[in-house]
Amino acid sequence: MTPEHTALQRPMGAHMPVSGGLHTSLIAGKAIGCTAVQLFTANPRQWQNAPLSGDAVRAFREAQEATGVRFVCAHASYLINLAAANEVLERSRDAFRAELERARQLEIPWVVVHPGAHAGQREDDAMAHLIESLQRILEETDAQHNPVGIALETTAGQGSTLGWRFEQIGAVLQALGKHPRLGACMDTCHIFAAGYDLRDAASYAATMAAFDAHIGIEHLKVIHANDSKKPLGSRVDRHAHIGAGEIGAQGFVPLLQDARLASVPVLLETPEARKMHAINLQRLRCLADGQPLEVQVTVLFFGHYRDYYPAPCVLMVPYGATVRELAEQLAAQDVRLSDLLQYCRFAMDTEYVTPDSALVSDCELAVLPPVSGG
Ligand SMILES: [Zn+2]
Repeated sequence: MTPEHTALQRPMGAHMPVSGGLHTSLIAGKAIGCTAVQLFTANPRQWQNAPLSGDAVRAFREAQEATGVRFVCAHASYLINLAAANEVLERSRDAFRAELERARQLEIPWVVVHPGAHAGQREDDAMAHLIESLQRILEETDAQHNPVGIALETTAGQGSTLGWRFEQIGAVLQALGKHPRLGACMDTCHIFAAGYDLRDAASYAATMAAFDAHIGIEHLKVIHANDSKKPLGSRVDRHAHIGAGEIGAQGFVPLLQDARLASVPVLLETPEARKMHAINLQRLRCLADGQPLEVQVTVLFFGHYRDYYPAPCVLMVPYGATVRELAEQLAAQDVRLSDLLQYCRFAMDTEYVTPDSALVSDCELAVLPPVSGG
């Protein structure tokens, strides 16, 4: 299968905000090119949520029909700990039952949930609670003919969280007889922080071999594509923009071009959704297609150019492009900028540079005309 083919087939998108109602996640996602969307179906930081209204359910189904977003999944509340020991356990089970019911109403096929935390228990005891929680809830929802699946997310191993070793997720799947409604969600930032390297083809292959051995690639239902602000094995969960973290842009290429995962949806959970989701999604598409990644350059004009362009101009240029190529691109767009290369000097992040300097990611380029009369 060619990389182009892969990118066309695979649903790709982002975790979208729901501020104007659940259905707005799909409309806003479609507007930035998502063919997959993840959302919270309730406030993820509170235990009690009102049931969905008939209007909300109808609006959501209509929006999915209208936008054609192919894949939708829900992310469960952060409060839920299905491995807890105390009163949090029953609260978590109830909240998770409500998650599955909302997903059923919205016809969402998968709910992603973190495996929980031992919070001072012996790890074996916490694992037993997690397995029992899932067993009960799967049995109940099977009896109710609820088809919604549960995708256990790999974690960074921060604090006392479970699921940072593939063995732990594998043990849960095994204990529940590989129930067809139970799967895994792999988060690139989390597994990298947990110590699974992804930065080149060889490390990716080793990581996926471990995933396959302990969990099974066929159980991978959702991929979260996030770069990591923290280094390999740090066990600290901080998401970064694609290509701007410790994994780096090239670290996503083997994953995005892996034919075994061609139908597994890929979702961003990177910061600054409103401004950056469109850019990060474009970066993933470039990488999946084997295209050079683009870099974002902010161009600031000084001197008389400022009369025409008082605000900074944000441009995406191909990876490895030079100042000369950018100036040519600007001149092609606006005749008033045609003499940039002939007369102007350039400064990148305050240092003077030559027209043949390569533009680097997220840099600021100042265009400085000669002092008049000088
Ligand atoms: Zn995630």
